[in-house]
Amino acid sequence: MAITPLMPVYPRCGVRPVRGEGCHLIDESGARLLDFASGIAVNLLGHSHPGLIEAIQRQAATLMHVSNLYGSPQGEALAQRLVDNTFADTVFFTNSGAEAVECAIKTARRFHHANGNPERHTLITFKNAFHGRTIGTISATDQEKLRSGFDPLLGGFTVVAFDDLAAAEAAVDENTAGFLVEPIQGEGGIRPASREFLQGLRRISDDKGLLLVLDEVQCGYGRTGKLFAHELYGVTPDIMAVAKGIGGGFPLGACLATEHAARGMVIGTHGSTYGGNPLAMAAGEAVLDAVLADGFLENVTRMGERLRGALEQMIPNHDHLFEGVRGTGLMLGLKMKSDSRRFVAHLRDEHGLLTVAAGENVVRILPPLVIGEEHVAEFVEKLSAAARVYVPAADE
Ligand code: PMP
Repeated sequence: MAITPLMPVYPRCGVRPVRGEGCHLIDESGARLLDFASGIAVNLLGHSHPGLIEAIQRQAATLMHVSNLYGSPQGEALAQRLVDNTFADTVFFTNSGAEAVECAIKTARRFHHANGNPERHTLITFKNAFHGRTIGTISATDQEKLRSGFDPLLGGFTVVAFDDLAAAEAAVDENTAGFLVEPIQGEGGIRPASREFLQGLRRISDDKGLLLVLDEVQCGYGRTGKLFAHELYGVTPDIMAVAKGIGGGFPLGACLATEHAARGMVIGTHGSTYGGNPLAMAAGEAVLDAVLADGFLENVTRMGERLRGALEQMIPNHDHLFEGVRGTGLMLGLKMKSDSRRFVAHLRDEHGLLTVAAGENVVRILPPLVIGEEHVAEFVEKLSAAARVYVPAADE
């Protein structure tokens, strides 16, 4: 493929959104698209949210950037609110999900180092996981399509079957630092871990002095109807990576940890020029205000149930295409009997509906968390119209 000014790592796509309005995007051609992708679980307040715009504009006019060397009142304030609302005692802000996972990996390794056990450096991770695109985070998965051509990768990861507690336990040895797991695999195809599995990982971690590291970059921040997905499981992590929704569209991530787990992260062990930048903090504050407001998470649960119910009703009418729905809250996956990437492109190009393809031929449904009944109705109507005319490729 010919080189282009923008490095050509993404395929060409049939739409080019130029403006956002609530739960819709407007294409270059003026066409309106219903956005049930949310920039892949990012725009949880939809597009052009007045509170988010105002917060960013106000902060931009006051102080846009200053080095962390001078301290950060804005970072301290948002970290305090996250601490007040989660298991965590401390927060490191990043600019992306992969960086949040990198910080989580470093925190876990440094914990054992601080305890005099530097040989406990290996994280047990899971098949079909996705943790980002840095060398460290691609080393943490077994997915050939992410890793191919990037050798040598980073050591210190053992990949075992997802949701298989016996396999996870059998992989623990004298070098194990802990587990790194998505409570609900996103890119892997909206696969929720079972309760027994996550609770089992917690129990093994407690028994053996290991750390449970959760990657809630995609499933966290209200998407499941809880602030974090682990709350659904009755499990608390030692360390957690967060991103996507936390900035509502502003590039922001965070690594949260307990005081115990963060004991190795002392002055000089980590840093970032932009991480915790005042603009990002202003966005983070505005998003958290909205997410913690009365009724916000309840709306996610209510709309999630409504959407799921409507999809379950629709599926039997198109059982040549669809197998079922999985997931929770507004993190749903429609399992197809044929290539979901092709169907997602059809939805986008022919029906003005944005979703995201995921592993295992799943159509990921990740709308803004502020959707109402009218958006659910529009989605199901357009999806049904597409299913009536869509013909899978002949060789499928
Ligand atoms: N972890 C998970 C679970 C993700 O879904 C993603 C992004 N899809 C990442 C990490 C990486 O986030 P980013 O693209 O912001 O680096």
